[in-house]
Amino acid sequence: MEISTVAVIGAGTMGRGIAQVAAVHGLTVRLVDTSEAVLQQAFQTIEHHLQRQLNKSLITLEQVEAARKRITCLTDIAAAVADVELVIEAVPEDPTLKGQLFAALDAQAPAHAILASNTSSISITWLGTRTRRPEQVIGMHFFNPVPVMRLVEIVRGLKTSQATFEAVAALAQRLDKVPVAVQDAPGFVSNRVLMPMINEAVYCVMEGVASVEDVDRVMQLGMAHPMGPLALADLIGLDVCLAILEVLHRELGEDKYRPCPLLRKMVAAGYLGRKTGRGFYEYPAA
Ligand code: NAD
Repeated sequence: MEISTVAVIGAGTMGRGIAQVAAVHGLTVRLVDTSEAVLQQAFQTIEHHLQRQLNKSLITLEQVEAARKRITCLTDIAAAVADVELVIEAVPEDPTLKGQLFAALDAQAPAHAILASNTSSISITWLGTRTRRPEQVIGMHFFNPVPVMRLVEIVRGLKTSQATFEAVAALAQRLDKVPVAVQDAPGFVSNRVLMPMINEAVYCVMEGVASVEDVDRVMQLGMAHPMGPLALADLIGLDVCLAILEVLHRELGEDKYRPCPLLRKMVAAGYLGRKTGRGFYEYPAA
């Protein structure tokens, strides 16, 4: 199936990046959020990023204008998904919310449409059970910032069909990404490996082993990580990190995934990282 129109549900950190990349690569995009204000902000962010790409001559003015025209912002999900071949869901990492949304998408999207989730940790097999088309449900796990990061983990649920997998993997390539096939397991590969490292970094700060800056410095200079784990947690969103750790802890049942109390406290205080202007670091411009 040729995918030419896609609905992206959720216009936050990830949804706006996915919408931008899809539009630049020629897809018609319906970007959906419950909030008009978020949609406006998302469109401004996309325009800003396109302008930056233009300034760096990574893209032409014609491409910028064409991409801008391909994106429509809506709050009405039913209208957004009525004629799409693919839906990419990027709402917060909350199983109840995603489960309800998949049931609604199943009722509203055309029968041939593929329903993909950008979830970082929730079971694709389980999301499939919320629909009557589990063979067309798949994980499309993009990385932040979406326009820059080339990896997409393509996650097969137990009932995901080979045709669905091939269509989505081909689309990822068309978006100039590198698809990597992974099985449906909590946190897939990326977050199964990354989140325990971030969690340990938070424990180091909580226990006074080293300062935030020094924990990050150790991992950057000692392990050649381009970014320290705490700066990365701020970029991902501390609420997102906490939600993923909760899933790993619950699903895998091992204490090593138990979220650090300091991480919980920061999320409770609204220190969510870059998106709120404060996490482990401060971001005055946000
Ligand atoms: P976010 O909080 O920045 O954005 C979520 C958006 O969804 C918000 O704008 C919210 O208003 C909107 N929303 C909530 N309920 C909705 C509904 N019913 N219909 C439409 N929109 C709704 O979250 P995010 O960081 O973009 O994460 C989204 C998903 O992507 C999560 O599953 C997360 O685990 C995953 N993910 C995040 C990252 C990251 O680095 N942030 C990386 C990879 C995957």
